[in-house]
Amino acid sequence: MSQTENIAYNSKLGIFSWFGWRLHISQRAKLIKDAGFDTTCLWWAEDERANTGSLDDLPKIVRANGLEIDNIHVPFADAHLLSSENHSERKGMIDLHKKWIEDCARHNIPKLIFHVCHADENPSAPVKVLLDSLAEIVKFAQAAKVILVAENTRRSDYIDFVFEQIDSEYLRFCYDSGHDFIWSDKPITVLKKWGHKLIMTHLHDNKSGDDDHIIPFTGKIDWRKILAAWPKDYKGPLMLEVVGNPEVQSPQDFLRKAFESLIKLKSLKI
Ligand SMILES: [Zn+2]
Repeated sequence: MSQTENIAYNSKLGIFSWFGWRLHISQRAKLIKDAGFDTTCLWWAEDERANTGSLDDLPKIVRANGLEIDNIHVPFADAHLLSSENHSERKGMIDLHKKWIEDCARHNIPKLIFHVCHADENPSAPVKVLLDSLAEIVKFAQAAKVILVAENTRRSDYIDFVFEQIDSEYLRFCYDSGHDFIWSDKPITVLKKWGHKLIMTHLHDNKSGDDDHIIPFTGKIDWRKILAAWPKDYKGPLMLEVVGNPEVQSPQDFLRKAFESLIKLKSLKI
């Protein structure tokens, strides 16, 4: 990299709209836009529905505040059902992903972020039936022109397993920095290996050994290591997946600090 180029210097800047304050989506979208961000992603789950009403109302409200929507993040608590040996369980989960893909297509949202690894604390090794599930979902996504994006979670070998056996423009990679640095034996390996499939980021830091989802540069991650491994041709956004604490600060203060962390990341030189 030259001195004038750095991490995704041309990337749009974004933050997950579910960032810790249980405000109506119209208020959160305005706060995000006012903090300087270009883009966001939506939590496509019951918590958001309970807070906001119909999920189908979300995209319009967010866009009316001048924000782009890069993707939806779908619920992952039952991600293991994609690997279930029980046919009806697995079919139910495949159908749910198809429905979410249709939601993206209907709202012109280009990407769907999902988990391929079990959500429990000690996930078992990946199994072949997961590939059967994904093959069916990827085919459906391709027809709908929606890109499925798998993020690294507790076991990054799931990412290896899936990408080694399914090579599709419609199945891409979201690098989750926080997960990588607490759950990988060798952080950065997954980014180096699958950087050519990278299309989204979940950038956040960790202070403890837990999945803290705190603002970059406030935890233990060595961001220069991430920068050194960053794919030079990356064109997606720099998206934060950080969660603040309403008891200790205002959303404006939190979002300002979050935005500044991305500016710092963009200007960091290696
Ligand atoms: Zn994530």
